[in-house]
Amino acid sequence: MELKICHMYPDVLNLYGDGGNIITLRRRLQWRGIGVSVDKLPIGSSASLSAYDLIFIGGGQDFEQEVLLDDLHRGKEAELKAAIADGTTVLAICGGYQMLGNYYRTHEGVQCDFIGALDLYTVGAKDRMIGNYVFECSPENGGSTIVGFENHSGKTWLGSGVQPLGKVITGFGNNGEDGTEGARFNNVFGTYSHGPLLPKNPAFCDLLLQTALQRKYGTAELAPLDDAAELLAHDEMIARLKKG
Ligand code: GLN
Repeated sequence: MELKICHMYPDVLNLYGDGGNIITLRRRLQWRGIGVSVDKLPIGSSASLSAYDLIFIGGGQDFEQEVLLDDLHRGKEAELKAAIADGTTVLAICGGYQMLGNYYRTHEGVQCDFIGALDLYTVGAKDRMIGNYVFECSPENGGSTIVGFENHSGKTWLGSGVQPLGKVITGFGNNGEDGTEGARFNNVFGTYSHGPLLPKNPAFCDLLLQTALQRKYGTAELAPLDDAAELLAHDEMIARLKKG
């Protein structure tokens, strides 16, 4: 068994160590004796996304999102939409998550028309939503409790065609108003959770791997790993946030 991973826009969308999620995906496959390859797809490059089982897109500031628009509409948009329709597993974070929706309008009124693969849109607010936060995935998304870090101006609103990834326990999530966090559509998982999302949340990492393996091989029995260190970090952050 082998998963082929594509790291999309590692040169422009990589905030707070988003790229560390790639290391975690790779390691958790290797520890189980499953093959893995990772290709980078920077701005200006072209590739067929149908070759991949899992696509990772990190976060970026408004500036980087504007910079990649031309490149996105010059080919990658069609590739991404086709991959999503075909059931490829995608993890998209913050700016990368917003990019899969219809548009992002900054607080200053600059409009970025995105790819509309997911029925959602984002509008920038004056006050940024920043901090460590906790959310609980809905049962169909594994039901695990996730600790993450968010820093965004955009408030994302989901249309009827997508489900939230989960509900906020502490923090802001999609918009700080309706209690939702992230989005799930086909095998796309969008979230505002930056940085060490997967190292600190091994159950969520395994959900992504399982989703990709299931699609490719029709089965996805993942051998258990010793997650003691990972869960210590996870539980410590939840305890700190609960203390306020
Ligand atoms: N530019 C977006 C916002 O502020 C995304 C930020 C990010 O990816 N951290 O909403």
